[in-house]
Amino acid sequence: MRRRALVSVSDKRGVAAFARRLHKLGFEIISTGGTARALEEAKVPVTQVAEVTGAPEMLAGRVKTLHPRIHGGILADLEDPEQVVELVDHDIGPIDLVCVNLYPFEETVAGGAEEKEAIEQIDIGGPTLLRAAAKNFKSVTVVPSPSFYKEVAAEMELGQVEETTRRRLALEAFRRTAEYDASISAWLAERVEMEAVPSTNGTAAAPEQSLDDAAAGDDVFPETLTKSYEKVLPLRYGENPHQAAAYYAEAGGGSHLLTGVERLQGRPLSFNNLYDVDAARTLLADLSEDGRAAAVIIKHANPCGAAVADDLAEAYGKALASDPTSAFGGIVALGGPVDGELAREISKVFTEVLISPSFSEEARKVFSEKPNMTLLQAGPIERPELSAKPVAGGLLVQETDRVEGDDEYELVTSVHPSPEGLGDLLFAWKVAKNVKSNAIVLVRDGATVGIGAGQTSRVDSSELAVRKAGERAKGAVAASDAFFPFADGVEALAKAGVGAVIQPGGSKRDAEVVEAADRRGLSMVLTKRRHFLH
Ligand code: 5GP
Repeated sequence: MRRRALVSVSDKRGVAAFARRLHKLGFEIISTGGTARALEEAKVPVTQVAEVTGAPEMLAGRVKTLHPRIHGGILADLEDPEQVVELVDHDIGPIDLVCVNLYPFEETVAGGAEEKEAIEQIDIGGPTLLRAAAKNFKSVTVVPSPSFYKEVAAEMELGQVEETTRRRLALEAFRRTAEYDASISAWLAERVEMEAVPSTNGTAAAPEQSLDDAAAGDDVFPETLTKSYEKVLPLRYGENPHQAAAYYAEAGGGSHLLTGVERLQGRPLSFNNLYDVDAARTLLADLSEDGRAAAVIIKHANPCGAAVADDLAEAYGKALASDPTSAFGGIVALGGPVDGELAREISKVFTEVLISPSFSEEARKVFSEKPNMTLLQAGPIERPELSAKPVAGGLLVQETDRVEGDDEYELVTSVHPSPEGLGDLLFAWKVAKNVKSNAIVLVRDGATVGIGAGQTSRVDSSELAVRKAGERAKGAVAASDAFFPFADGVEALAKAGVGAVIQPGGSKRDAEVVEAADRRGLSMVLTKRRHFLH
């Protein structure tokens, strides 16, 4: 019996060549109106669906292939003799291959189409064909996208499409229909939400809030998020080796974490590597703003060293000296080119990933002795507009915390910081914004000397930062990402010899905190803006 392929595609690219190869293999090609026309024009012999069903395409194309002569032919279990007899009784021929891609609903609504137009672009017959063929992958090959034409034709030419391929194509088909339905339901949900909000005097009233009535900037965020993400990179593993992982970036070609990044050597990246690369590049961007050479070292998404200097090697040396124990196995990001000499310095410390805009030939040679060290060539990075954190079954979405100069700076103590101290305070403030809360950052001469990160109390973070700084705390300055709820944190810093503090202020006990600073001879700058990072 002659094999039959049903071909009904909205995106007609490459379909004629594919159908021609099937025709040469002896397939009868059955097509819907537009596809049949395209194939005829390309001189590929084709049978109209209407000839097979005996019913015309109707209702402006809403019903074309929804017919037992088509779906019976796709869905029959050919290993079941009763079903084969049924096919014969009803004069239905089996269909061996189904090649379908769907009406461009996503593109249509992305272009801001009217509702009527969007509805017409909801493909009904196409997903039905894909699902039917995918369900019956034991005997039917489903081709849900032009990207499979070559592979399927090549296997057919070798005799038949293997069952493993058919199973994989079935998975792709169900993925596609699931994605398609998700887009439709998200679009419809937006409309249902709009109708659900009662309108007064033509302006939409805010929906009733049941959990919390705080809704600052609520209008910034759409009712539904319909972004899609594309896989950029399979990752070595997740946070732990028993977890599989991949990196996805927003679809549509905007810049993302790995845009323009080249891996020059080393192992494939893991989930933690990329998370740290993001932290490293973001902090580096903040510190590079004033044009000095900057170096940062990240461990578990927290900086364990950061410095600026006139010379990159000096900046790296100072960043490393901040906490050499923690720097072991860290991610280093540098704001300038790496030469042979700096490469030799970096090679002395076990470093997982090194990021720089460029590496000299000599540096490459030095690093080639460390094949497990990953070298990434990368320029500056831009912070995204929005950032999100996954929570059970959902996402928390917010505007990204930006470092640009919206913070205010008010001196609240009688003691003034020195000009160098002021520079260090501003540097410490930038670093503190990039340290997980509660963050206390001690800085001397443009370099961190002690970082207290991720503690559940501010006094613990203060003590930790002081302990890490040791003797270097004397004369250092400190930044705190949020206000001191009590004077104890400031007391701990003063006791260690810290001379100036920058913090947002805003505590009920600000007066007490400022009074403690004054009493201890510290200068204190309030910024009026908190920078938690969780
Ligand atoms: P053509 O351009 O060949 O006229 O139409 C191809 C498109 O029709 C494909 O995207 C396919 O998914 C879709 N299609 C196939 N059968 C049906 C049907 O019965 N109803 C609807 N609404 N679309 C169909």
